[in-house]
Amino acid sequence: MKFGGTSVGNAERMEAVAEIVARHSREADLVVIVSAMGGVTDMLIRAAGQASRGDREHWKGVRQELARRHREVADRLLSASEQAQVLPRLAEQVGHFENLCSGFSLVREVTPRAMDTLSSLGEVMSSILLAAILRSRGIPAVAVDATELIVTNDTFGNASPLMDETTAKTRQALAPLRRRATIPVITGFRGATREGLCTTLGRGGSDYSATILGAALNADEVWIWTDVDGVMTADPRLVPEARIIPEISYREALELSFFGAKVLHPKAIRPVMTGQIPVWIKNSFNPAGAGTRIGPSVSQSRPGIKAITSVSKAALVTVSGKDTLSFPHLAARTFSALSLEEIPTLVVTQSSADNVLCFAVHEADLRQVKAKLEKAFELEMLHDYVAALEVIPHVAVVVAIGENMKGTPGIAGRAFSALGRAGINIIAIAQGSSELSISFAVKSSEVKEAVRAVHAEFQL
Ligand code: ASP
Ligand code: MG
Repeated sequence: MKFGGTSVGNAERMEAVAEIVARHSREADLVVIVSAMGGVTDMLIRAAGQASRGDREHWKGVRQELARRHREVADRLLSASEQAQVLPRLAEQVGHFENLCSGFSLVREVTPRAMDTLSSLGEVMSSILLAAILRSRGIPAVAVDATELIVTNDTFGNASPLMDETTAKTRQALAPLRRRATIPVITGFRGATREGLCTTLGRGGSDYSATILGAALNADEVWIWTDVDGVMTADPRLVPEARIIPEISYREALELSFFGAKVLHPKAIRPVMTGQIPVWIKNSFNPAGAGTRIGPSVSQSRPGIKAITSVSKAALVTVSGKDTLSFPHLAARTFSALSLEEIPTLVVTQSSADNVLCFAVHEADLRQVKAKLEKAFELEMLHDYVAALEVIPHVAVVVAIGENMKGTPGIAGRAFSALGRAGINIIAIAQGSSELSISFAVKSSEVKEAVRAVHAEFQL
């Protein structure tokens, strides 16, 4: 079970989490993974930034706030003897924070490596607290630092796990706890290199921690406790009648999370996909809710579209080549320029007769995309082999997802007819041969209507 930041955001929420763990600990061997208390990671990262700019005061305020938020929980939920044990351990972490920030402010820089140690201190503190809360309720539990379990490469800030080593280490470290029926409460977000240097798995990476550890332990299930009731058919802010989806496949979940739906960290799906371990998305604010099960592809009753997601701030970029520049060459140059910067594309279309390549990117990446392409095609543009890049700003990319559309005629027709009836113009369209999703671009101002029209057409 993994609990996210809002699920452990204050004493009341931590108590609710302890209740959930207590209830389920009777029926299963539990391993708990915990995020930092909501807002703490942001606060830590900001403090490091300020300190590295030479600000010697900002982090002192953050230190007070960090101590206060954790202490408040300890005051409210821990027995006197647990407080005596835990308060010095929390103070020790606050001390680490202080030493690191003071160092950053002196040398006026923060390296990615040092940032990882600092930014994941919130997880260390929340795991110490939650384990103590469980013990105060008579449930045997200990805080475990994931740097002792998850072995990663040394891409600080966005590390990837080395699964074989992680599996061996995790099993060895957790076996004695299991024998004593003690629940490990493990820090999300962090891991360590072979040399023992602390790394992080990227923002929001505690989901990833949970599925990595679930895979390492060959768990029966991974439960992600969050603040929504499950995966929805659409963003409820766009479609009020959006519903919870009871079951989706790994591939559908991957697709949804790539396009920004609040499902799971996109990377988190891989580890469980390999071991075919089901993942449940559940709401810690409504633990009785059914939630969504993400698993191997499911035999759905109805073929067709299952969920719709959208990226409302995107732009379309068109690169047109002249006859002398072949399309494959044009595409190769374009994508290698983007890949060097790891800029994701949302939709790609080609019209080879015209030698035109069109793709959508996040609006936030647009400036960088233009700069990279102008540089990549500098010479061709000078000699007029490539016409100037065209950009259509304020576009939304809408993605209709459903594994069961494969081989079912008429789905795209219905979706696009619904858009036509709503008077919405489609600027670009793409569907891959896996038929897992249909993506299309519309004007940003029409995204809400577009999502609603398709949602209504398929009675999601
Ligand atoms: N606390 C980390 C973050 O805010 C990891 C997580 O919450 O999943 O990015
Ligand atoms: Mg989080």
